[in-house]
Amino acid sequence: MGGVLILGGGTGGTLLANMLARRGIEITVVSESPEHLFQPALLYIALAGAGADIVRDERALLAKRVRFARERIVRVNLAAHRAEAASGARFDYDSLVVATGARAEPAQIPGLAEIAERYGNYHSGITAAQKLWKALDSFRGGTVAVGQASPICVCPPSPVEGVLLIDKLLRRRWLRSKSRLIFFTPFPRTYPAEPINEIVEPLLKARGIEVKTFFDVDRVEPASRTIFSIEGERIDCDLPIIVPPVCGADVAYEPDGALNADRFIAVDKKTLRIKDTDSAYAIGDATDLPTSKAGAGAHLQAKTVFRELMGEPAEFNGRTHCAFDLGNGTGTFVISSYSAPAVRYPPTRIKRLMKMLMGRVYWLSLSGLFETIFNWYFSWTAPERLAARWPRFWRRANR
Ligand SMILES: Cc1cc2nc3c(=O)[nH]c(=O)nc-3n(C[C@H](O)[C@H](O)[C@H](O)COP(=O)(O)OP(=O)(O)OC[C@H]3O[C@@H](n4cnc5c(N)ncnc54)[C@H](O)[C@@H]3O)c2cc1C
Repeated sequence: MGGVLILGGGTGGTLLANMLARRGIEITVVSESPEHLFQPALLYIALAGAGADIVRDERALLAKRVRFARERIVRVNLAAHRAEAASGARFDYDSLVVATGARAEPAQIPGLAEIAERYGNYHSGITAAQKLWKALDSFRGGTVAVGQASPICVCPPSPVEGVLLIDKLLRRRWLRSKSRLIFFTPFPRTYPAEPINEIVEPLLKARGIEVKTFFDVDRVEPASRTIFSIEGERIDCDLPIIVPPVCGADVAYEPDGALNADRFIAVDKKTLRIKDTDSAYAIGDATDLPTSKAGAGAHLQAKTVFRELMGEPAEFNGRTHCAFDLGNGTGTFVISSYSAPAVRYPPTRIKRLMKMLMGRVYWLSLSGLFETIFNWYFSWTAPERLAARWPRFWRRANR
C-alpha cells in the first residue's frame, strides 16, 4: 500500500495517523496549525475561568515516522489524487483522508461577528473564550441570553451546558436573583433528542431559566443587543452568548459535488468514503454525516477508516457519545447510533467526573495505544448492547 495523506491534525487526523504509522504505512499529515487544541475545555475557560493550558504541539503528538507539514490546503483534486496548499505546495497521494473539522462562522448572520468580537463565545478558540469570561466577570446583573444560532453546531450538548454553567456561576456570585436567564434554540424543545430533553428540560425549569424554542437567529443588532429570529420573535438582553453557525474548511474540491452548501463533505454514512471516489475518505466534523459533530465521533470514524485502509471489513454505525455537564455536579452522555435513538442515561456524579477527566485522557488517546480499552468502553456503552445485556437497566434508563 502507498502513501496516505491526511488533511487536518485535529482529533480524527492525529489518531488515524498514529494508528496507521504503527502498521508501517507512509503517512503525511498536513495541517494549517502547528498546534492542537482540546476544544471541550473552551467551555470551562469561558464560563468557569479555567486556565488555558489546553494546547499541545501537533508534531509532538504524532508518531516519529509520520511526516508533518504545516500548510493550509486550498484545493483538492479528487480525480488527480492531489491536494494543493495556499503556499503552492502540492501533495500527491494514494489514499486521502480529510479531517479538517468545522469552523465557526459568525459572519453568516448579520451582526453576529460584532457580537462575537465584543463579548466572545466558547466555540471560536481560546481568545474568544477568554473574552467571554471577561464579559461575565464584569456582569453585575441583567438579562443573559444563551443559545445556538443555527441547527448545526459542534458538540450539540454545549449550548445547554453553557446556560446551566452560567446559571451556576451567577448563583455562586449572588447575582442570580438580579438576572434573567434566557435559553433559545432553533429546535422544538430544549434538547432535540427527546430522551435527553426529559433530563434537561426539568433542570432548566427548576432553575428559572426561560426557554424560547423555534428561535432561528436571523440577525443581531449589536448596539441594542437585540437578537431577532426568522420566526419574527426578538430577545433584548444585556449579555448575548451565541454559539455561531459552523461550516466546513475553506477548501475547493474537484469535482465540486463533494461538498454540500455548508462546505461539509458528502460521504457514504457507513464507509465514510467521499461520494464517487475510490480511495478518498472524510471523518469527523468535516463531514455531512447525520450524527453529532463531536470528538468521540471523530475517534470512532478514524477507527473505521483505519480498518478499511488495512483491508478489513468496517462500517461506521453512527455512534455518538457526547459528555454532558449538567451544571449541578452530575453529568450524562448522549449515546445513540443510526439504529438506536438516544438513551435516557441517568445523570450521575461519576459521568461528570469522566467528562472532567477527558482533558487528561484525551492527549493519551491520540496515540492510538489505548484502543483496546476504548473498544471495550464503546462496546460496553453501545445503546444496542445495553438493551440486550441489561434489559432491566435499559428500561430504567429509558423510563
Ligand atoms: C465548546 C466545545 C465543547 C466540546 N465538547 C466535546 C465533548 O464533551 N465531547 C466530544 O466528544 N467533543 C466535544 N467537542 C467537539 C470536538 O472537540 C470536535 O468534534 C473534534 O475536535 C472534531 O475533530 P476533527 O478531527 O473532526 O476536527 P478538529 O479537531 O477540529 O481538527 C481539524 C484540523 O484541521 C485543520 N485544518 C482546518 N482547515 C484546514 C486546511 N484548510 N488545511 C489544513 N488543515 C486544516 C485544523 O488546523 C485542525 O488541526 C466540543 C467542541 C467545543 C467547541
